[in-house]
Amino acid sequence: MSENQEKFVIFGNPVAHSKSPQMQNAGFENLKYNAIYEKHHLEDGSSIKETFLQNGYEGANITVPHKEFAFSNADEVRGLAQKIHAVNTYINENGKVIAYNTDAPGFLKAIESFGEVKKVLLLGAGGTAKAIALALQESNIDVDVLNRSEGKLEFFKNEGITSYSWDTFKSKETQEYDLIVNSTSAGLKDEYLPCDKEILENAFKTAKYAFDCVYGKVTPFLALAQENSLEIKDGEDMLLFQGVLAFEYFTKQKVSGDVVEAMRKGLKGE
Ligand code: NDP
Repeated sequence: MSENQEKFVIFGNPVAHSKSPQMQNAGFENLKYNAIYEKHHLEDGSSIKETFLQNGYEGANITVPHKEFAFSNADEVRGLAQKIHAVNTYINENGKVIAYNTDAPGFLKAIESFGEVKKVLLLGAGGTAKAIALALQESNIDVDVLNRSEGKLEFFKNEGITSYSWDTFKSKETQEYDLIVNSTSAGLKDEYLPCDKEILENAFKTAKYAFDCVYGKVTPFLALAQENSLEIKDGEDMLLFQGVLAFEYFTKQKVSGDVVEAMRKGLKGE
């Protein structure tokens, strides 16, 4: 480690597969910012704050399964993360741990390329769905949540977001949505659709865009959307933009398009 070099990290379990180091280090290199970003396999999420401070990190990203622990351990949570109850970014501000959620604004930035979106059907009700639903709600974009099971819908109902399980949705009249988002893990390591084909085909009749949080592949969900003539997008931009927003907190500056493109190349291993 060279003199005055700042240290950044990603905490996760597992973390070996994470592409964040190659993306963040490409940004530091482009900016000639004297810093190094590493991976830290963390077993016990409840020790995240101590581990962060004891290792002298200036900033961190947090991935599965520690985002909720990171939220409850932070000294201060800023922005929409206060409602999401999960954070993916830590900053050391004079020994205090400040936490943010950059997944939510990262998603909004990723869907900008679609053009105007007024009503969204969001598939899934996990951690990512919470961030996306609240980001959409805050941007005054109408969002309905549809999940396989009932259990996780309470959070959305408490936020005034209409939500359905597969069973209750089938009995409803089909609404018209501009954008359908897959935030389930269906398609990540398998070839499942995130819900009944019939529900999707109905929604695709009027929708213009389909977005999948899974990145680096055309999932069955995106393939079906494409067959139905929707414009499709995978989760690469969401991953990139959550990383860019974290990078701006790390380096305390707004970055140019050059840095963003360097980070994209880093992410793709180019
Ligand atoms: P969670 O484990 O918190 O939630 C998973 C959700 O998927 C639950 O609602 C679950 O439903 C649903 N689900 C799982 N399997 C199926 C299936 N076969 N059919 C239908 N529904 C299913 O996961 P996360 O929210 O953390 O992550 C979700 C996805 O988003 C992952 O694929 C992840 O890789 C991706 N992601 C991408 C990011 C990016 O930057 N591009 C950032 C973060 C996540 P139930 O409640 O019924 O169990």
